[in-house]
Order: sequence, then structure tokens, then C-alpha cells
Amino acid sequence: MTGPASAPRALVVTGGVPCTGVVRTPGEKSISHRAVLLGALAEGTSVVRGLSDGADVAASLRAVEALGAGVERRQDGTVAVHGGRARLHRPEGALDCGNSGTSMRLLAGLVAGFDWETELVGDESLSSRPMDRVAEPLGLMGATLTGRGARCEPPLRVQGGALHGIEWTAKVASAQVKSAILLAGLSASGPTTVREAVTTRTHTEEMLAEAGADLTVEPWGEGRAVTLRPSALRPVDWVVPGDPSASAFFVVAGCAVPGSAVEVAGVYGGPARLGYVRVLQRMGAAVTLHPSGGNTVTIRATAGPLQGTSVAAAEIPSLDEVPALAVAAAVAEGTTVFTEVGELRVKEVDRLDAVAAMAEAFGAAVRVEGDTLAVTGVGGALQGARFDSRGDHRMAMAAAVAGLAARPGARSVVTGFGATATSYPGFAADLGRLSAHAGTGGGAAAPCPLLVAIDGPAGAGKSTVSRAVAAELGVDRLDTGAMYRSVAALALARDVAPEDTSAVAALADSAVIEVGERVTIDGLDVTAMIRSAEVGRAVSVVAANPEVRRHLVTRQRAWAEAHGGGVVEGRDIGSVVFPQAPLKVYLTASPEERARRRHDEAPEGVARRDRLDSTRDASPLREAADAHRLDTTGRTVQDVVQEVLSWL
Ligand code: C5P
Repeated sequence: MTGPASAPRALVVTGGVPCTGVVRTPGEKSISHRAVLLGALAEGTSVVRGLSDGADVAASLRAVEALGAGVERRQDGTVAVHGGRARLHRPEGALDCGNSGTSMRLLAGLVAGFDWETELVGDESLSSRPMDRVAEPLGLMGATLTGRGARCEPPLRVQGGALHGIEWTAKVASAQVKSAILLAGLSASGPTTVREAVTTRTHTEEMLAEAGADLTVEPWGEGRAVTLRPSALRPVDWVVPGDPSASAFFVVAGCAVPGSAVEVAGVYGGPARLGYVRVLQRMGAAVTLHPSGGNTVTIRATAGPLQGTSVAAAEIPSLDEVPALAVAAAVAEGTTVFTEVGELRVKEVDRLDAVAAMAEAFGAAVRVEGDTLAVTGVGGALQGARFDSRGDHRMAMAAAVAGLAARPGARSVVTGFGATATSYPGFAADLGRLSAHAGTGGGAAAPCPLLVAIDGPAGAGKSTVSRAVAAELGVDRLDTGAMYRSVAALALARDVAPEDTSAVAALADSAVIEVGERVTIDGLDVTAMIRSAEVGRAVSVVAANPEVRRHLVTRQRAWAEAHGGGVVEGRDIGSVVFPQAPLKVYLTASPEERARRRHDEAPEGVARRDRLDSTRDASPLREAADAHRLDTTGRTVQDVVQEVLSWL
């Protein structure tokens, strides 16, 4: 039951905890995707340092591997991509882009240049995103792209082949579409020109030029025109700077949480990507940029009052910073108006709606009219809130920052927080480090995974309630009673007397016990067996054995670590196993009701078990001092669950 620490599935954030210190964001996502794709096309070995460790870029890596490129993760943390057109071949199955729109659109352009059919698929959210915007220009170049419906939603089939260059004037400002066309243009006959009225992210043309592509960039109105002539690429050693969109969360925390002073180092400094900094400066924030070598900058942010402003979409191309800026807007005095941000509706989720819901949940007044979003801030600390990310990484990170900007001590819970794995698996840990530096509260108040401890005697309703609470919060549940029962069952099966403390402890130490919907011991399914009357009689004796408890408590803690928190039920969870749990619940019920619920167990047996459990020396059943006590007698499950959730 052990495993690596995972990103919290739900994050608990305490308001008013300042952020101080230095942080580095993971490798810039757009550059990471492009380094991987250009690496696959370049003749030879490209090495990428600082590649994003998010799930999106992992999807691009998997895809180029399936297309025949070699991917090698090296000891020093770099990733080598062995590429070349001759290596690439028709993939055996569909290329799974997961949640990554960038992977799908860029790969569509890449594979369009090869005379085979490729199928590109994605998760539910990606499967509802429009691909017509790449299908149309790539179609004009000679490829055939088919998807679902009028907007060509995935699964997307790309029949590539002999392409010819086109002159394309962008209808929607999109770096992904521009990139898809340019990647296809590498193998087209004749030059390909993409004109955009608004300059979108320039990574593709910059990186293509660095890899030896024959390419020119000219001003075109307010934007630019990029012309590419068919080219072979050479391998490059890429160094990926820190992600600027991810920096926005820390910078906004630095501006909006009183007492904060944050420095984000090594951030990609392309001016188009730091538009959000200028927006914050206009809001009166103390944010400054400091060149830090190459194409990187260090961003410093100090807390202070903020005022509303107007934000034009063109200032923040691709709109990735809107969720973070909406938090600043919610804290600011006055109204911040974001115009032309309708494009947010077709992000990983309807992000326009999600941003509005978030700002509102934390206390701001919000109005959405057409493509305009207006957020009227509270002019100070927000209220605590429970907010679900809807599976969107940026919403999860923004809501965590909003939680910090809430009134001192106000608690917020961000569910669906696992979505941060898309782009920034270490976000909670990094935010935790910044807020742990804060003087008084120390680490205790730093954001932490949500852990709900549910204790109580037999028949109090722990299992039913913990299952329902876990489902509501989208986290996993651990039944620790099943672990003690498993050890008791094993002792009985091996003819070891439950009273033989050292022999039973040895069993507890060596057995591999998996507790989920099914329970297994050393791979054997014992789900039904551990509920037998015999096990019921032996378990309290086994559970009184301090050595057994020591082994099992270690595993319970490891489980929480590996699952990013969760709901854990037992007898000593709030008092011993997780004394720091942000929410502790102690369930009881009348003896009659408990006996009725445990109808499969003799009433004397239940009473004996309760007596042994509460009188043993080793962590007896005890209500933690800070637990919420709830008598479930005569109450419906739904009612009890709602009350438990209200304590969050
Ligand atoms: O929860 P359940 O009734 O299945 O637990 C069976 C037994 O396991 C309890 O009666 C108790 O003796 C033991 N137990 C424990 N500590 C826990 C969970 C269960 O001692 N955290």
C-alpha cells in the first residue's frame, strides 16, 4: 500500500497565511511540447533540460515514441529524443493526447506531413474541444482531417501526404493553429505563410529557427507574418525555462495575501507571456521583473492594496492567466473587466463559467455578458469557500491562491485538486513551502492535503458515512478496521493464537494487505472472510497488540501519502494516526441502533468488542479533543454526510 507521494486529491487552505520565499516553476509547457515534437523530426539526438513534468507533455512524449522516435529519460533529469524523419512510421494504435489540446493540435500538423493515417484521441474534456481550426488549414495544404460533428471534435483522423504550402490568415488568434500549420509546412512543397493580426506565442517560430528551419518573420499590421520554406531540422540541446503561466499563481499570491513577498526565479521572459504582470502593475501591485540571464527573468511580488482595471484579451494571449488574475480581481477594490475572453469557453472546461463561479464562491460579485467577464472585488480579504476544480488544473491552482487570500483562519477546500498533475504535479508542495516560511503559524497552517478522520464504535455508521464523504469530495477512503481484521484472519488461518503477541506482530509485519473495495492478503481475496464471526471475536485482541498497531499505523500513513490524503475510518485515526487531520469526526449512535446495524454480529459480541477497544492500553477508542461529535441515531446518511461536509 505504499507508493510515491501524490498531489493532494483535495487541498485544504487556511486564509491569511502569507507566502514568502523563492520558487521555480516547472519547465514551460509550450516550449516543452515543441522541444519534444521538433526532437522527433530532427535528424539525430536532441536533449531537453528542464522538461515540464506534467501529464500534458508526457502525452506528447508518448505520442512521438509511438511514432517511432526514441525517448530516453536520463539520470541527470534530462530527456533525450532520438528523432529523424526516416525513423518515424505509422503508429500502431491511436495517439492518446489525454487532456492536452496542445499535443493534439501540434501532432495533427506534424503527422499531416506523412503519407499515412493517424488517429488522435483524448480524454472526455479534450474530446469536446474543436479541431476544425486545424482541420481547415491543414486540409487546404492537402491533408484530410475528419472528426465528429461540424466542429471536428476528436477522435481526429489525419490522412497525411504530399502537402503544398499555403498562405493562411488566422481567424482566431491561436499559437496552436499557427504551430500546426508550420509543422506541416516543414514537409510541404513551396513556402507556407501564417499571418496573425495579434501576435500569439512565438515559441514555434523561434524554436524552428533555432533547429535550422528556413523561416522569416515580418511585421503584419499589429501582428506578424511567419513564412517557412520546407526544411530539415537539426537536433538542439534545449534548456526549458520556467513556466510563466504557472508563475502567475505565485505572483498573485504574493500580491494578494497580506504580508507576502514572493520571488519566482528562472521564468521564461518572452514579453507576450508576461502580459499578466503588466495587468497586475496596473492594478497597483508591487511586481517587478529582473532579467536573470538568457531568455529568463525573476519576478518579485510584494503584497499591497489592489484596484480594479480593464484587461484586453490581447494582453494575455491564450488567456491562461485569467484564473489567477481573477483572484487578484476578487481581492481588489472596484471592478476588473476582462474583454474578449469568450475563448475561455473552449479550454479544458468552460473556464469562463468556472472562473466566474470561483470568484463568486470566494465572495466577489461577478457578471458575464457575452465575451466579457466583470469581477467586482471585495477590496480586501476573501471569504473561505469550497470549490471544485471541475478537473481543470488552472482552476485548482487559482482556487488554492484564493483560499490563501481569504480572511485569516478562514478555511477553504479545493476538490478535484489532482488536476494539477496536468501541468504542475508539485504545485501544492511548492505553495506549501512558500507559506510554511510564514512566521507565527509555521507549517501547520500551510496548504495541506485534505484528510478526514472518522472514528467511533462499531455500528456508529463510519463505513457508510466515510464512503459517501469520500465520494462527495472525490478522494479515496481507507477502512483501517479491515486491516486489523485481515491480520486477525491471517492469524486464524495460520493457527496462530490471537494472544501470541510476537507471532501475530510478525504476521502483521510481513503480510501484504491491500484494502480497497476488495480486501486482499498476499494477493488472496479475503473481503468476505474478514467479516466472519470468528474474525470478529479475534480482532479486538489482535488490535490491542502495540506491535501490530505500529506496523499498521505506518502503512496507514503511507497510504495517505500515496493517495494524496483521503477519508480514513477507524478507532484511533484522529487521536493517533493523523492528529493533524484538518477534519476529525467522531460518530456515535445509541446501543440499540448500533446493535440493529450490526445485525450480523451478536449484540454481546459487539459490546465486548467496544469494551476491549475502549479499555486497551494501546491507542484505545477515544474521541479526539478537536473532533466533531455526531450522533447518527435516527438520521439519514445524506443528512449526516451534509453535516460532515458543512464542517469543512
Ligand atoms: O471497523 P471495524 O469494526 O471493522 O473494526 C474491527 C476492529 O478493528 C475494531 O473492533 C477494533 O478492534 C480494530 N480497529 C482498531 N483501530 C482502528 C480500526 C479498527 O483497533 N483504527
